[in-house]
Amino acid sequence: MSHIQIAIDGPSGAGKSSLSKAVAKELGIIYVDTGALYRTVGFYARSIGIPSDKSEIARIVPHLGEINIEVKYENGVQCVYLNGENLGDRIRENEISMYASTVSAVPEVRAFLLDTQKDIARKNSVIMDGRDIGTVILPDADVKIFLTASCETRARRRVAELAEKGMPAAYEVVLSDIIKRDEQDSSRDVAPAIAAPDALHFDNSFDGFEAAKEALLTMIRKGLSEKGKEI
Ligand code: C5P
Repeated sequence: MSHIQIAIDGPSGAGKSSLSKAVAKELGIIYVDTGALYRTVGFYARSIGIPSDKSEIARIVPHLGEINIEVKYENGVQCVYLNGENLGDRIRENEISMYASTVSAVPEVRAFLLDTQKDIARKNSVIMDGRDIGTVILPDADVKIFLTASCETRARRRVAELAEKGMPAAYEVVLSDIIKRDEQDSSRDVAPAIAAPDALHFDNSFDGFEAAKEALLTMIRKGLSEKGKEI
């Protein structure tokens, strides 16, 4: 049977990664976090002293040849290696979120990461989350979902997530960063973070995690069976 491709797009903090991870486990497929790739490029930009400002970030372009990114799955967990080193949670810092957002608006960076993403989906059944999965990376995905939640809900979740990782951040700072990132991500010229015309919309503002997971699974199973792909 051919591989299954499930595309999940939507803004940060909508619950894409936790829900996608849970769905991947349930369906026995791989969860691919594409934001981690942009974060890794952002991490490299910071490490060589390039500021994250929109006006400066294109200075990363001549350095892309110095970056080797590998994605490996260790016990079902995605690990991203930058030039042979597993960066782990170091790419989750709040400052790196802003780097990822500005770096991802650079067309050369998107082109640089395109094959890595397409390759994983060629070789595995995947649920892949990001901003342009249904529109650019996997335009023929079996099921496309655009996941959203209110800015306040997303900021609250992100504060909890950062605290859990030992990187506490103030709610107001996280909320204003989220609003700024949304604006940047959805208004950029290349691959803006918008829903594919054939995406199903899922609002994750209200339900508890288990209810949202079940609703998402039902949506995905229905979508797959319409494509003649049972799982
Ligand atoms: O998903 P995450 O919040 O980790 O992504 C970090 C940033 O990377 C996002 O704000 C977005 O600008 C960018 N991104 C993207 N395309 C993707 C995944 C992430 O532009 N497919």
